[in-house]
Amino acid sequence: MTQYADTLLFIDGVWRSGTSNRTIPVLNPATAQPIGTVAWADRADLDEALAAAERGFAVWRATSAYNRGKIMRRAADILRSRADAIAPLMTMEQGKPLSQARLETLAGADIIDWFAAEAQRTYGQVIPARSPDVIQMTLRLPVGPVAAFTPWNFPINQVVRKLSAAIAAGCSIIVKAPEETPASPAELIRVFAEAGVPNGVINLVYGVPAEISQYLIAHPVIRKISFTGSTPVGKQLSALAGLHMKRATMELGGHAPVIVAEDADVDLAVGLMVANKFRNAGQVCVSPTRILVQERIADTFSDRFTEGARSIRVGNGLVANVDMGPLANDRRIPALESLIGDAVAHGAQVKTGGRRIGNDGWFFEPTVLMDVPREARIMNEEPFGPVAVINRFGDLGEAIAEANRLPFGLAAYAFTRSSETATRLGNEVETGMLSINHLGLALPEVPFGGIKDSGYGTEGGSEAIQAYLDTRLVTRKN
Ligand code: NAD
Repeated sequence: MTQYADTLLFIDGVWRSGTSNRTIPVLNPATAQPIGTVAWADRADLDEALAAAERGFAVWRATSAYNRGKIMRRAADILRSRADAIAPLMTMEQGKPLSQARLETLAGADIIDWFAAEAQRTYGQVIPARSPDVIQMTLRLPVGPVAAFTPWNFPINQVVRKLSAAIAAGCSIIVKAPEETPASPAELIRVFAEAGVPNGVINLVYGVPAEISQYLIAHPVIRKISFTGSTPVGKQLSALAGLHMKRATMELGGHAPVIVAEDADVDLAVGLMVANKFRNAGQVCVSPTRILVQERIADTFSDRFTEGARSIRVGNGLVANVDMGPLANDRRIPALESLIGDAVAHGAQVKTGGRRIGNDGWFFEPTVLMDVPREARIMNEEPFGPVAVINRFGDLGEAIAEANRLPFGLAAYAFTRSSETATRLGNEVETGMLSINHLGLALPEVPFGGIKDSGYGTEGGSEAIQAYLDTRLVTRKN
């Protein structure tokens, strides 16, 4: 059985407590019992991390892209080799089933490999000049020390995207990882240190999120920030970044629509959406939430989806064959109860679920609501939990209007056998990502990001590294 150890800060290549020696308890969401602590960074620790990141940047930017990539590939290999040891830590602190924790760790290694290769493709341009004795070209240079703020739903994945892109580009980074799920991201950082990333290039802190972000974003050493979390917090941090003229990437909330047209393969749609909805207990920014089904197949779809939801085995993620663990923290329980109660008060039908399970740990029933009026809060606020809404639509225009009604624009899904419908959805659904007839999101090689209130910038694909690079024009006359 894996031992859950206390988590320390990592500053300038050293694992250590905070200067105040204060710690924050870590709870297991399956039992609501403490399992360890995480060190708390004060201002003095942040100042050390900033100084280390500044020194680290000087060393790392001077390291060739070839060598940066080599070290990163080594980190990816170490991470892969440790997936079985890291996964139980993630399950204990976050709740997701062991298989999902293992997959997240392995996917993290693939992301590192992708960015390791990208390190060598940060091309500039030679631009045709107006005079034969002028050479004008652009260099792509690392933007500088980065501050990254990541949430608790994917403790490794949320860090590894930002961290890998930053260090591939030649930046140093201070990661403020989630206090509720600190051990697995710390293991990720350990892997990079062991692979040979020099001291100061990667620093890891925990503490009071608002205090840390306010201090780091305003600090002159930090040149770029990246945040994943809720839209309200993202807006605050973007405003702060704007005030201090810092570049920012914002990966925020979503409320993903799923459009199931009457010509869709219903079994395929049900199978993929049940698995996708209840993965990580629905605490996923791209989780399918408003499932819009064309009238003729709506009842068949919802009956099969409900059957699928009822077959989900809920339990402690460490136990074999569990499909869905507890919610990651106690805040989600009243949040979901209130959203479901409000939907019912508005006339929604509860097809299954709707309640907390037991009192030990933060378990919640996989829930399906049907025919939910637009005025209900759940039709407008991100539920971030295991609740699916199934509503009917008449023609495609109506479904597209509903999909686009909210200010969010992160992920969307669709099922149809018509290429005409697929093309129209691709053109008209306002979203950062649209996956049609399969689950194709979040691979390292494809863009990952939203539009509208879901944020800006992408954390995947060939564009992702660009967020960590500046363009410098060098124009020279012989
Ligand atoms: P929250 O909005 O307080 O926090 C979300 C995340 O942001 C947490 O990791 C938190 O530590 C961090 N955070 C909060 N205030 C911060 C600040 N001022 N500076 C830096 N970081 C800060 O809410 P929560 O209860 O933790 O999560 C609830 C909501 O957050 C969910 O309903 C969901 O909408 C959103 N969320 C989104 C993602 C995502 O992947 N996009 C992940 C986790 C949570």
